[in-house]
Amino acid sequence: MEKTISVTTQRIIDEEEKYSAHNYHPLPVVLSKGEGVFVWDVEGKKYYDFLSAYSAVNQGHSHPKIVAALVDQAQTLALTSRAFHNDVFYKFSKYITSYFGFDKVLPMNTGAEAVETALKISRKWGYEKKGIPANKARIIFCQNNFHGRTITIISASNDPDATKNFGPYTPGISSIPYNDIAALAKELEDTNVAAFVVEPIQGEAGVYVPELGFLKKAYDLCKSKNVLFVADEVQTGIARTGKLIACDHEGVKPDILILGKAVSGGVYPVSCVLANNDIMDVIHPGEHGSTFGGNPIACRVAMAALEVVREEKLAERSEYLGEILRKELRAIKSDMISIVRGKGLLNAIVIKPKNGKEAWDVCLKLRDNGLLAKPTHGDIIRFAPPLVITEEQLMECVDIIRKSILEME
Ligand code: PMP
Repeated sequence: MEKTISVTTQRIIDEEEKYSAHNYHPLPVVLSKGEGVFVWDVEGKKYYDFLSAYSAVNQGHSHPKIVAALVDQAQTLALTSRAFHNDVFYKFSKYITSYFGFDKVLPMNTGAEAVETALKISRKWGYEKKGIPANKARIIFCQNNFHGRTITIISASNDPDATKNFGPYTPGISSIPYNDIAALAKELEDTNVAAFVVEPIQGEAGVYVPELGFLKKAYDLCKSKNVLFVADEVQTGIARTGKLIACDHEGVKPDILILGKAVSGGVYPVSCVLANNDIMDVIHPGEHGSTFGGNPIACRVAMAALEVVREEKLAERSEYLGEILRKELRAIKSDMISIVRGKGLLNAIVIKPKNGKEAWDVCLKLRDNGLLAKPTHGDIIRFAPPLVITEEQLMECVDIIRKSILEME
């Protein structure tokens, strides 16, 4: 039986339900503190965080170096807007472009905004550099994608929850099945295609890892047709999958790289788009921007967060620990786990319901046993702990998962 939740927890959940829009369906737990791989609820109960705020908290909760940068800059200069220069943005621009190997950066705040930015740049490049006739530019996506929630982005979605009654949709958008090179080749026959936008691993869809070679073949195809290869690494980037960006697994350098989430270690909304001059220089003053994009706090936080990734060798840790996690999960003897998949520390298990118990029930059981994870699409549970987790902690988490699954049987 699921443990009952406390009066305090229930009261907080009830008030949230009453006063906030019902656009999420959270697991019933109320958190009030986070540190490293752990979070604590309002009763003081401690949990392993196995979601990491959808991979935003790769560096662990409230990393002291990132928080110090945040506090220091907040006390010095928080926001100028880009109407004036400030003495931090140029440092961030130089730092992040050299870190990822691109000429230029365009900063935004959320992942969705960065995706929108990439789409605008792609269209403009299509008209001004590729010579696509006015208003004819097309952008190709993959089915079952997740790139955010704006009208244009959901225009590329085939998820009814994301699209139903939000039309009319933005034109010039098509989708191919994920992992289908032949379908991409067919779409790219059309010379009006400006860009192909892809998640190197589909995170929200349930951690779908494409066949090895898909990204490289797609990239080569894009090059042969003068189409931009745009990688949405909002979830897969910044060491999550065992490399700095997931495209590194196939040696692919995207024409446009979209980053968000862990760029800030989860302490502040920071996102950006990176590209070389031949692409980024299509954008001129007044054509795109954001009041908060590239603000001094965001810049300091992002530089600190990226330094942590290097200093603590998070990509290497993620690669090493991911192998162990998948091996251990596959060794759990239960027919409730039908699939284990992932790369680095971006993983998922697929739950086969048993005795009327589904992935949601498994997550409640995991919660009761001290580990927080969230189901997606009904039967999939993502396992994505902060990358600062130690091997010993990871093994303790495997014990919690094994125990919870076996308790469900
Ligand atoms: N792209 C991808 C691949 C994502 O996983 C997400 C968020 N889950 C987004 C974009 C949107 O990011 P945000 O919620 O910050 O707008």
